[in-house]
Parts: sequence; C-alpha cells; structure tokens
Amino acid sequence: MPVLAIVGGQWGDEGKGKVVDQLAETADVVVRFSGGDNAGHTVINHLGEFKLHLVPAGIFSSRVLCVIGNGVVINPAVLKQEIEGLNRSGVDTSNLVISDRAHLVMPYHLLLDELEEKSRAGKALGTTKRGIGPAFADKTNRLGIRACDLLDKAALGERLAMVLESKNTLFTSVYGAPPVSYEQIYSEYCAYADFLAPFIKDTVVLLGQAVAKKQMVILEGAQGALLDPDFGTYPYGTSSSPLTAGGALGAGIAPSRIDKLLGIFKVYCTRVGNGPMPTELMDETGDAIRDIAHEFGTTTGRPRRIGWFDAVAARFSCFINGLTSVALTRLDVFDTMPALKICTSYDLNGQRIDYFPASVADLEKCQPVYEELPGWDKPITHVRNFADLPIEAQRYVRRIEELIGCDVSMACCGPSREQVIQLKPVI
Ligand code: GDP
Repeated sequence: MPVLAIVGGQWGDEGKGKVVDQLAETADVVVRFSGGDNAGHTVINHLGEFKLHLVPAGIFSSRVLCVIGNGVVINPAVLKQEIEGLNRSGVDTSNLVISDRAHLVMPYHLLLDELEEKSRAGKALGTTKRGIGPAFADKTNRLGIRACDLLDKAALGERLAMVLESKNTLFTSVYGAPPVSYEQIYSEYCAYADFLAPFIKDTVVLLGQAVAKKQMVILEGAQGALLDPDFGTYPYGTSSSPLTAGGALGAGIAPSRIDKLLGIFKVYCTRVGNGPMPTELMDETGDAIRDIAHEFGTTTGRPRRIGWFDAVAARFSCFINGLTSVALTRLDVFDTMPALKICTSYDLNGQRIDYFPASVADLEKCQPVYEELPGWDKPITHVRNFADLPIEAQRYVRRIEELIGCDVSMACCGPSREQVIQLKPVI
C-alpha cells in the first residue's frame, strides 16, 4: 500500500477535505502536515457536514489513525473545541494523535498577528489573524513552544517565562501595547496540557511502523501551492509549505517514501486574502460563479476572489509538486455557464510568457491570454462515468489535462463523497 500526498494545487480551498475523506475509506493513516487553524476543510458525508480546522479529514473512518503532524502549528484552544464538537456530533476521536514536535500557537501570536497587520497599513497581507504566521516565525527563530513541552509543566513554565521576556519587550517598547500576563497564559496552557496529553505522541515512530507494515498513508495538505513561502506569490502567502515536499517534512516521512502525489484543483480559481491573481474576474461572471458555488471561506466566512482556470499557474504547480495525477473539483459549478475560459499564457509588458513569474509586481501586470470553450448547459451532478458527461464537459477536462501536462484521475461534480467521476486510479 502506498504513501499518497494530497495537496492543494492553487490558492487553497480546492476541495482537499472531500477528496481526503473519500480516499481515507481505504487508508490506514491520515496525516495533516502543514498550516494551522487558518486553513479549514469542509467535509460532507453520511454523518453530516463538518468544518475541520486542525483535525485530519480521515477522522470519520474509525479505523484510520489521524495524525496532526509536526509541521502543523496548533492552537490548543481551537483543537480542544474541535475535538469536543466532533464528539458531540458522535464522531470518535480516540484515533487522533498529535506530534510531540508540533509547535503551539500562543495568545501572544494572535496579538502579534493583529499588531503586525495593522502596522502594514495599506500593504496588509490579509492574514486570518489567528497567529499562524507569528507562530511559524517563532519556530524558525527558535522561540517556539511545542506539544512535548505540555508534557512537562515545570519546563513549560521556564520556557514560557523566557519567551515572554522578549515578547513583552516587543509589545511595550515597539507597539506601545500592554504586556501579556505569564500567570494567565501558564494556567490556561496547563489546563490544555491536561486535556491534550493523552493525544501527544512521537508520531514519527507511529508513521515508521505504518510504512514498515506497508499500510496506506495519506499526507493531507492544507492551503495551496501558490501560497508556498518559496514558490507562491511571496509575500502574499502562507508561512509553511503546502507542497508535497512540505508533506515529507511536516509529517516526518522521507521524500523517497512518497509513492503517489495527487494535486487538487478547482475548474476555476479562487483566492482569499490579498496578492496577485492573474485571471481574477471583477465582473458579473465572477459574481455568478461565487453565488453558484457559495465561495465564502470555511474558517473566515470571507468572500473568495474568483477567476478562470489558470493553466500557467497550474502547470507550475504540477511541476513543483511532482504530481502523478490531478483531481478536478466543482465541474458542476459550470452547469449553467454558456462559455468557459482557460488562461493558456500571460502577456507581460507586451511579451507572451508561459511561466509563473516570481515577482509580485510582474504578476500584477500579467494579462491572461484566454482560450474559450463551449459550456454544456445541463446538470451533471448525477454523472458517475466520464463517458456519460456531456461532450463539452469531457473536452473541458481533457483540454486542462493537455495544458497542465498531468493526468486527471478524478473529476468531482458535487459536494458529497459519492459525487466523483473516476478517470484513472489515483494509487
Ligand atoms: P479544502 O480546504 O480544500 O478542503 O476546501 P474547502 O473545504 O474550503 O472547500 C471545499 C468545498 O467545496 C466544500 O464545501 C466541499 O464540499 C465542496 N466541494 C468539493 N468538491 C466539490 C464539487 O465537485 N462540487 C461542488 N459543488 N462542491 C464541491
């Protein structure tokens, strides 16, 4: 059985939760490997509709070991609430484990997120203000507090006191804000420690055992490739790598162990937050797609920016992720659209280019060059075989496949688990 990485190919919200939920039926382990509670997944299945923020989407299959990997930053308050909410809905969470190496989001990270966004004035990044960026910055700065620190309250207290010395200098001297209280944070986090301790394990050992037993492991990505700190639209992106390479690091599995790499793409583009988006639609077509598809953030409720499918960005994403196949989601959203566009190249300063530029200033100037394809003007939500799709829908999928240079293994035509057309095996 393989190790399968599942990642977002665009700017996140591609429908990873649904695909992981579906593939988790045959998996033994699902590991969430990056981001924090800024990235939410919506899963609709036989148990109801769930908005997950930190818990892996494999949680609905009780035989699946669900791991929150070392690459995730965990806000214990959010995780506790999420676990309790799942339990109230009858979902068993005894199969959940948390990497002892995962870093924690602390109350001062949320404060810093707010203060830093404010100080950026007109150049705000549009973060979700959940402290995720500051938590990852502390990880890199060697000022982080990790899940394993919750297992030793004396050591937690010492580390917190040391970190707060520098944070409180920052709050009072740089931002003119009041200092945060050691006692309050320490007692709050001791209570989280009591709740979370049974879940905290050395997950590298558990994954090593699963790989040795040739069990099926899914590495579940959050967000999407175009938000990657190295390859995304920097600085308008996220703080941990949503790429397949980030999957190896954030789960604790060597890259050589990953057998299959599946990228999830919507048949159009969406983006939350600021930053360039070459195919963005600022017109009624964009509004129509947003309305039909209910494009509002799972975690934030913010309206998502909408654009046509960007094959230049998608080709780049396939390459940097090394994808072995692609799942296209939301084909049904186009059921009533008379004509569809795909961006095949960009016009940058009068020159035709077919690569995704590093510079945000260049990306802002890129004008999409479109190819137009006819729509199908029929509902497809009931279709389960590719050959039963209207010919226009088949051509649309095949054209994307051609332009991005990667096989399409799945096409989704509705939000529920069974609304999937399998074109090729994923694994
Ligand atoms: P994720 O973070 O990548 O899991 O994406 P989100 O949870 O933010 O958004 C995915 C949403 O799209 C969820 O509400 C899914 O149920 C829904 N979804 C997934 N695939 C399809 C599809 O093919 N058609 C439609 N209409 N909705 C879909």
